[in-house]
Formats: sequence, C-alpha cells, structure tokens
Amino acid sequence: MSEDTIFGKISRGELPATIVYEDDLCLAFRDLYPAAPMHILLIPRKPIPRLCDSVPEDQALLGHLMLTASKIAAQEGFGEAYRLVVNNGEGAGQSVFHLHLHIIGGRDLHWPPG
Ligand code: 5GP
Repeated sequence: MSEDTIFGKISRGELPATIVYEDDLCLAFRDLYPAAPMHILLIPRKPIPRLCDSVPEDQALLGHLMLTASKIAAQEGFGEAYRLVVNNGEGAGQSVFHLHLHIIGGRDLHWPPG
C-alpha cells in the first residue's frame, strides 16, 4: 500500500522532511540523498504507487504536478536548466512506491542519463 511508504508518512506529517512547497494536492521536499546540488521531490497527496497506476481521473492532478514543478524550480532558483525525472518501476530505479517527480539541477546534466 503506498499509504505506508515513507512519502505517504511525510505527506501526513508523520515523518520529518524539509518541505519547500505544499498545497491541497501535492507537496515538495528536499531529497535526503541528493543526486545533484539541487534535488527536490514533488509528490501528489493522493497515494498513486507508480505513474503507470494513474488513471484518466488523475489527468488534472498530473498536469498540476508539472506546473507546480516549474513553479518550484523558479521559486528555488534552479534557473532555466533543470531536469524532471519520474522513475517508473524497480527496473527504472524506482525505490519508493508513491509517485514522485525528481526536480534536479544546480550542475551540468548530461544526456542520456544512466
Ligand atoms: P526513486 O528511486 O524512487 O525514484 O526516488 C526515491 C528518492 O527518495 C531517492 O532520490 C532518495 O534519495 C529519496 N529518499 C529516500 N528516503 C528518503 C527520506 O526518508 N526522505 C527524503 N526526503 N528523501 C528520501
């Protein structure tokens, strides 16, 4: 159950996190093990395990996450060069099964990613 993930607990205020943004639908906090100088995680409050588990009714929520990621990047001073990443499934590197967008920046980002 994704309600029981660490991100579910952070979302309900049961685990500490450095929160940089929150609203009724989502919240964003700093990654505890940053992969770059700037690394923020943005999660929906709704516990969707993986992107592929989202349903048509989540369309507005998913759009809200994208717009909010852009707002947070501006608010946090990422500049114009940053990357949004969604790891879908274990084989793609997903380790917490509560949908999240990584907002990564603060250094040169190479392509393709590993
Ligand atoms: P994933 O690998 O699922 O795409 O991303 C999970 C992210 O959560 C990783 O970047 C990892 O560093 C981060 N993370 C793991 N545990 C915690 C935690 O307890 N608090 C915070 N803020 N981030 C965490």
